[in-house]
Amino acid sequence: MDADLLRQYLEFYQDLGIRTLYRLAAVEKTEPPPAALAPASQASALPPLSPANDSLLKILEDIGDCRRCRLHAGRGKLVFGVGDEHAPLVFVGEGPGADEDAQGIPFVGRAGQLLTQMIENTAKKEGIPLVREQVYICNVVKCRPPENRTPEADEMEICGQFLARQLSTIHPKAICALGGTAARALTGHKEGVTKMRGKWFQWREVPVMVTYHPSYLLRQYNQASKREAWEDLKKLLHFVYD
Ligand code: URA
Repeated sequence: MDADLLRQYLEFYQDLGIRTLYRLAAVEKTEPPPAALAPASQASALPPLSPANDSLLKILEDIGDCRRCRLHAGRGKLVFGVGDEHAPLVFVGEGPGADEDAQGIPFVGRAGQLLTQMIENTAKKEGIPLVREQVYICNVVKCRPPENRTPEADEMEICGQFLARQLSTIHPKAICALGGTAARALTGHKEGVTKMRGKWFQWREVPVMVTYHPSYLLRQYNQASKREAWEDLKKLLHFVYD
């Protein structure tokens, strides 16, 4: 694109009140990328900072009593993440809800119970011995957004540095993005979850499977989507554990 056209685009976005633009370069995959595949040039909206010899404990210490964005004001407990630091599979949700905010643990409310069932029941049906404690679970933002609203772009960017460090430290074989917010934050894609689900994307060199958020599946009118989520998880679990 020539410079003049680019300037016109930028002015157009400015007129719309959009001041932050993200580069999109995630590559959509129908199959998991082969191990030899070069890392995606730029696959995510998460910042690329990761100190050497990082660990989950160090990241937690660096987060500290975080006041870096407005979400801290309404926080009960900060919700860092839970599970196996060496898990080959990480689930990433959007942000803590009321139950998670009260307990400081991700996915412990109704959506969390459904997530646990989805992981364990799918694994069992597929003959894969797996319980929730063997995966790692976290969110794009670590503090509960007021009224469970979607996190704002700046909140995700600020908190995203810690998610990026968590993912780099764990270095899983695959990541599961639960819902559109996590999918967009990890892959840089801006499509809706119904378009992205069931497909492979990448966060850096790590394959990302997108599926529905369990809260979405809890709604009565979305029951048909459960079958699709089930298919997505089957594909994901076989890729990680076969
Ligand atoms: N929804 C999320 O996205 N994360 C949680 O931890 C709980 C509900």
